[in-house]
Amino acid sequence: MVTEKFDPEAYEGIRYEHLTDDIVNIAMARPQVRNAQDMAMTYALNAAFDRAAHDDSVKVIILSGDGPHFSAGHDMGGDRAMTWRNFPTVGTWAGFDGKGVEGLYGREKEIYLEMCERWRNLPKPTIAAVQGTCVAGGLMLAWTCDIIIATETARFKDPTLEFGVAGVEYFMHPWELGTRKAKEWLLTSDWLSAEDAHSCGMVNQVVVDAELMNAALVMARKIAAKSTFVAKAAKEAINHAQDVMGRRNAMMHAFGLHQLSHSHSKQQWNILIDPSGVAPSVREKIRARFNLPPFDIPSERDKPT
Ligand code: ZN
Repeated sequence: MVTEKFDPEAYEGIRYEHLTDDIVNIAMARPQVRNAQDMAMTYALNAAFDRAAHDDSVKVIILSGDGPHFSAGHDMGGDRAMTWRNFPTVGTWAGFDGKGVEGLYGREKEIYLEMCERWRNLPKPTIAAVQGTCVAGGLMLAWTCDIIIATETARFKDPTLEFGVAGVEYFMHPWELGTRKAKEWLLTSDWLSAEDAHSCGMVNQVVVDAELMNAALVMARKIAAKSTFVAKAAKEAINHAQDVMGRRNAMMHAFGLHQLSHSHSKQQWNILIDPSGVAPSVREKIRARFNLPPFDIPSERDKPT
């Protein structure tokens, strides 16, 4: 077990750069793992967002991903022997070592739900610049931003139902896609193209691949020309409008159902996901990763997906 405290300044998986005097780009810089997000990246992102929020010269924040893909989601490769003790927790729920559902609930609430809420509520406009694959936890990152600009080859997917979980932890699906499309997309685990995401309002603008950062910068400059204070106020007004329509209550309900899904799989399979819905090769990786005996999969489900 690693005992030293995590230092976000020394972390190389995030790059914090000024594109102009008042526009910052926070780039996920782990293209070798498609910018998969482990705890280190989560807390480094949080530190970078805090830095930009606290710097009065910064007016707009862009979130981008290096390489051909924005984000492959949460890093299933593990946290390199680090635990919650290595990181500066931002919430007060605690109980992270608790048995049963207590520990998992506390950790997922801290590092997924409340962290995303925190980023969504940053008092400065944020723009996600999305290319390539944006999956599961990657969706959560894009969804926390106020504006999403995507390339025409970007594609989006929440595959959680394939492995027995009722949607990602930050449950924005009905708000991002509308209820009808959200049901189809989530229940089928299909890919959503940038064009379709644009047509249902999840994506603001679709551009050719080479234009992504330039388009984000053009948008950021327009926003940066406004007063920081009124931009902050306008953002909060719209976020609050969504919240009085029930977003936060619905989010908490969905988070409870997400945890119920994990608990169901844990009781049935002794692991937090249902391995029967994924392809045998993926199942084998999961089994090896968590050092589990072979799963007893019913034959009618034992086929590649
Ligand atoms: Zn979860």
